[in-house]
Amino acid sequence: MNTHPTLPEFDYLRPRTLAEASEFLSRHPGEARPFMGGTDVLVRMRDGFLTPRFLVDVKGLDGTNELRFDPRAGLTLGAAVCMNRVIASAEVRTHYPLLAEACRSVASYPLRTRATVVGNLCNASPAGDTIGACLVLEGVLHVHGVHGPRQERLGSFFLGPGKTTLEAGDVVTSIHFPLPPKGCAGVYLKLGRNQLSDLSIVGVTALGYPDSTCLSGYRFRLAMASVAPVPLVPVEAESHLSLREAAQLAADACSPIDDVRGSARYRRLMVRNLSAMALARVWNRLTG
Ligand SMILES: Cc1cc2nc3c(=O)[nH]c(=O)nc-3n(C[C@H](O)[C@H](O)[C@H](O)COP(=O)(O)OP(=O)(O)OC[C@H]3O[C@@H](n4cnc5c(N)ncnc54)[C@H](O)[C@@H]3O)c2cc1C
Repeated sequence: MNTHPTLPEFDYLRPRTLAEASEFLSRHPGEARPFMGGTDVLVRMRDGFLTPRFLVDVKGLDGTNELRFDPRAGLTLGAAVCMNRVIASAEVRTHYPLLAEACRSVASYPLRTRATVVGNLCNASPAGDTIGACLVLEGVLHVHGVHGPRQERLGSFFLGPGKTTLEAGDVVTSIHFPLPPKGCAGVYLKLGRNQLSDLSIVGVTALGYPDSTCLSGYRFRLAMASVAPVPLVPVEAESHLSLREAAQLAADACSPIDDVRGSARYRRLMVRNLSAMALARVWNRLTG
């Protein structure tokens, strides 16, 4: 074990335009990495899991610092906007409180001054705390690649731990959230080994809203962290009438692993319990 871990040598680049960033990244596949807060990438480099030759600083490029709410179009969150800025935004707290709650669950205040929601998404850890909120709020990524801008739906973005549909040259510039469903309520329940600064053993995000096409009069969306190779959306559980059965279906949809934070069996049981608790809290808020 290396008792004095240090960062390996690398070149730091700060392109002036998105086109320049994409062009450089695409010319150095596997060697160059974009980064935002660096709270994942620098730690993984220090621990020897990543050895990029070039780190490409994409903060400050077109639109990446923007946090804008439009009452007709929704919320645009630039890729460089740190989590503390998301939490401090009155518009986020009013219209997307679930997103603020998810950001608040990440580590500590100092870390959140650097860490970004987009970095959390691009890192594609199944334990990412803000991913569930972004999924149930139907976030869409705006990506700049070598062929210009495009959009990526989050539902199909995650391919495996640390793997996404992003390719060499791609830089996520922002995430856009449509207006949340009218009258919605959401919660994020995170089970960690301690209350502060730990990754989740299990995380459950639930969002509910009135929908007259559902028998109960309400529709629910769920997303799970740390229980499958990718952040999990248990669609079978979403339209179920009984909260207890929906929670069991969510647990059945998981494929958790044993690791230092918890066993697979414990995780599955906690998914059931936390899902039932999350759905009940949302239900209570919806029905007053
Ligand atoms: C002490 C500590 C505690 C932590 N606790 C938590 C926690 O409780 N919950 C949690 O979810 N996470 C936690 N993390 C992990 C980390 O802080 C988050 O994942 C954070 O959101 C990453 O954001 P970032 O801006 O720092 O990403 P970076 O480190 O800058 O980047 C992360 C990854 O995304 C890629 N990337 C970044 N920006 C872009 C872009 N614009 N386009 C394309 N690819 C991009 C990078 O190449 C890299 O692979 C913790 C980390 C530390 C060090």
